[in-house]
Amino acid sequence: MADQLTDGPQIGDTCIGCVVCVDLCPGDVLRMEGDKAVVEYADECWWCGVCRVECPVEGCVKFKFPVAMMNG
Ligand code: SF4
Ligand code: SF4
Repeated sequence: MADQLTDGPQIGDTCIGCVVCVDLCPGDVLRMEGDKAVVEYADECWWCGVCRVECPVEGCVKFKFPVAMMNG
């Protein structure tokens, strides 16, 4: 199943390290690495979209939903 998530959350270089996504992620997917958020456990992502919606930097967090989810 993990290979379906290779298009998982992507955090861009524009991350300002506000920690909002790390704090709000319900799945402990994200963590801080220095002053940037990084994806630690992509397989744990629930695709809730909170990280993308709440990030204050437009376009910083991007992801594509797994094809299996869209079909199912
Ligand atoms: S979509 Fe939801 S579960 Fe996945 S990384 Fe973002 S906040 Fe966490
Ligand atoms: S919410 Fe956006 S700017 Fe803030 S740490 Fe996460 S990715 Fe970076």
